[in-house]
Amino acid sequence: MHVTIIGAGLGGLTLARVLHVHGIPATVYEAEDSPAARTQGGLLDIHDHNGRIALDVAGLTEEFRGLILEGREATRVLDRDGTVLFDQADDGTGNRPEVQRGELRRILLESLPTGTVCWGRKVRGVRVLGEGRHEVTFADGSTVVTSLLVGADGAWSRVRPLVSSAVPEYIGTSFVETYLFDARTRHPAAAKVVGDGAMLALAPGKGIQAHRESGGNLHTYVTLSKPQEWFAEIDFTDSAAAAARIAEEFDGWAPELTALITDGETAPVLRPLNTLPIGHRWARVPGVTLLGDAAHLSPPNGEGANLAMFDGAELGKALAARPGDVEAALAAYERELFVRNADEAAEAARDFDICFGADVPHSLVRLFTGQPQ
Ligand SMILES: Cc1cc2nc3c(=O)[nH]c(=O)nc-3n(C[C@H](O)[C@H](O)[C@H](O)COP(=O)(O)OP(=O)(O)OC[C@H]3O[C@@H](n4cnc5c(N)ncnc54)[C@H](O)[C@@H]3O)c2cc1C
Repeated sequence: MHVTIIGAGLGGLTLARVLHVHGIPATVYEAEDSPAARTQGGLLDIHDHNGRIALDVAGLTEEFRGLILEGREATRVLDRDGTVLFDQADDGTGNRPEVQRGELRRILLESLPTGTVCWGRKVRGVRVLGEGRHEVTFADGSTVVTSLLVGADGAWSRVRPLVSSAVPEYIGTSFVETYLFDARTRHPAAAKVVGDGAMLALAPGKGIQAHRESGGNLHTYVTLSKPQEWFAEIDFTDSAAAAARIAEEFDGWAPELTALITDGETAPVLRPLNTLPIGHRWARVPGVTLLGDAAHLSPPNGEGANLAMFDGAELGKALAARPGDVEAALAAYERELFVRNADEAAEAARDFDICFGADVPHSLVRLFTGQPQ
């Protein structure tokens, strides 16, 4: 058995690692030119019921522990005027340790045999050859033929059309990402309002969420529920003007909150949020399957990366358990994936409503304090 994995995100790499642990060879084809081609995004909280389990299965628990940023589980919810509505310190008893996504990806990459990941290999299309075999064509015109293909290539998967006609749809909300560096020294008011971990200042249809990352950097996601045409009118190549236009939507909010937008030290990056239908599933197609966002892209609720790693670990285990029967392994993996998908996607949609619906920030405080919605 040789497994062809498209995409070196956390899901694809976890699969490659679990296969390696079981002595099954795999090649990962990744569109980006190198591991350093782009920054890998911010902090991820890793959950006991999925991400942690995946890292255990991958044999990387010790390496993972070494990445945990102490104190970052602190959480606070603010009203738009800066009033603190909920404030929970990180007393070391939490169960969702925070790590930098790039560091997590690094330990996965370092755990694989040299040459497992082929960088700069963007998949352009896949052709069905029959009997479970597929021909993958890359942007440079080269091809590979495989009898076991896994689409771990994220939201806009090139593998997904082999099994499903579903395409992600915009959910009416976008994030705009900004960074403030070395905040305690250079942006003390913003550092104070964010605190030691995560800060969420939310109102219906808009919000400012920030996280204190390693090095005391503040990573902010501004949330705005607006049509894509509205964002299209903003010139994001003019950073100052774009930041000012976004900040205008927060007129009257506490200045230490809007400073997270207007004092941003990197060009603001627009991230439209798209999802696949809740409960996305497909009929078994020989020789191919999906994992992670390619299979179940959902509104961000802190589970997506955890689930992608869990999928990778589950698929690796299923293949290792049935080395002579790939189809039985894929069927067993997908059976559980679809149940998990439906539950998790529905929960993500509920969480999204709690964070950005009509009763926020009070709905969010209720969530954190365990009160009924
Ligand atoms: C703004 C934002 C914040 C988020 N925050 C969190 C969070 O705090 N916690 C959490 O758990 N989740 C979070 N998520 C969700 C999480 O990022 C995703 O669910 C997770 O990254 C999915 O992992 P993946 O491996 O399936 O896909 P990806 O991480 O998207 O990896 C896919 C890989 O495939 C490669 N690729 C794509 N197309 C091709 C191609 N044609 N050929 C070859 N390679 C290709 C890509 O370059 C990439 O490396 C967030 C998402 C967003 C948008």
